[in-house]
Amino acid sequence: MENSVSLLGKRFVPFLPEAEILQAVQKVADEIARDYRDKVPVFVGVLNGSFMFVSDFLKFYPYPCEVTFVKLSSYRGLTSTGIVETLLDLPDQVEGRDVIILEDIVDTGRTLQELVHMFSNKNVRDFRIATLFYKSEIYSGEYQIDYFGMEIPDKFIVGYGLDYREQGRNLRDVYQIKQNSMINLVLFGKPGAGKGTQAAFLKEKYDLMHISTGDVFRYNIKNGTDLGKLAQSYIDKGELVPDEVTIKMLQEEVEKTSDASGFIFDGFPRTTAQAEALDNFLESRDMKIDATIALEADDQVLIERLLERGKVSRRSDDQDEAKIRNRFEEYNRKTAPLKSFYQEQGKFHSVNGVGEIQEITDRLSRVIDSL
Ligand code: AMP
Repeated sequence: MENSVSLLGKRFVPFLPEAEILQAVQKVADEIARDYRDKVPVFVGVLNGSFMFVSDFLKFYPYPCEVTFVKLSSYRGLTSTGIVETLLDLPDQVEGRDVIILEDIVDTGRTLQELVHMFSNKNVRDFRIATLFYKSEIYSGEYQIDYFGMEIPDKFIVGYGLDYREQGRNLRDVYQIKQNSMINLVLFGKPGAGKGTQAAFLKEKYDLMHISTGDVFRYNIKNGTDLGKLAQSYIDKGELVPDEVTIKMLQEEVEKTSDASGFIFDGFPRTTAQAEALDNFLESRDMKIDATIALEADDQVLIERLLERGKVSRRSDDQDEAKIRNRFEEYNRKTAPLKSFYQEQGKFHSVNGVGEIQEITDRLSRVIDSL
């Protein structure tokens, strides 16, 4: 089972491993088999969520039976809308038969009410309700739940057929939503450490917004904005752009995407004043930095990487070894002290930044997954 999974920007953490789910499925199958061994029941799976449950259930059910499906829809995102639509109606084969509904999950009971309504004019002989997961705490329906695999607390869960906005149904295990699931990371390291390269992978994997202050400056330079003109003189010398300007720019970037599920800050903060401003700014928005991860590599490796990159990127600050060395000096003087700033907050993590790109992504992911 994964430590966590990310679906459409929400994080989910382990709730039930496959083996326990299958035990619960078997329990339902055994109980129904005991009651129906001399009959031929029609099992009615409720799509979409129940398809995995129905499939495994039937493998555990040892006697003659039939199976069909209906389709209803009520969940829209994280909370039930209360609106239940019938998308696929019952076939006629249920008339005069012993029908057992197979639901993946019963919570408030609204979907169930609609189901019972569907059966009310079908003249079935006997009608029972089985569900794999049962949120008994919040069930307020009037119908008895005849069989259930296990009772669960009122948590939003995904996996084993259950979805979050249609994703996550293919997970073999069940995960629950992680509250306050925003992740904000600082990628830390000298120029050339691979922050931008790694951010591109991490942003996809964890559905985060990547903000590279260097990229924002270069974008402004390219477009000839006032900010670009101001920044260029510093960047060309391999010096840091003044804090005041950089902090304001960073805040504007964050504010542009206030609905993001988290940020990767790349190349920011680079001074203690920037780090303090970032903490204050995030706090004012009920956010925080979760981890600062440093990519470590020797200067000589970095200089070679930067000169190599300079041939392709044509970045003037990557093509001249004197400028590169000046950037390292700026780093040692102004940025390196941030290590202790974040260590004191218990947020500093160090990762070996030398190796295959994928290996380094894996090292970073291990830190992020442990948060
Ligand atoms: P980078 O692409 O991160 O290597 O940044 C390139 C250049 O942009 C740096 O050498 C600085 O001149 C400027 N810059 C980027 N981020 C910052 C920052 N947080 N503070 C000051 N200057 C920055």
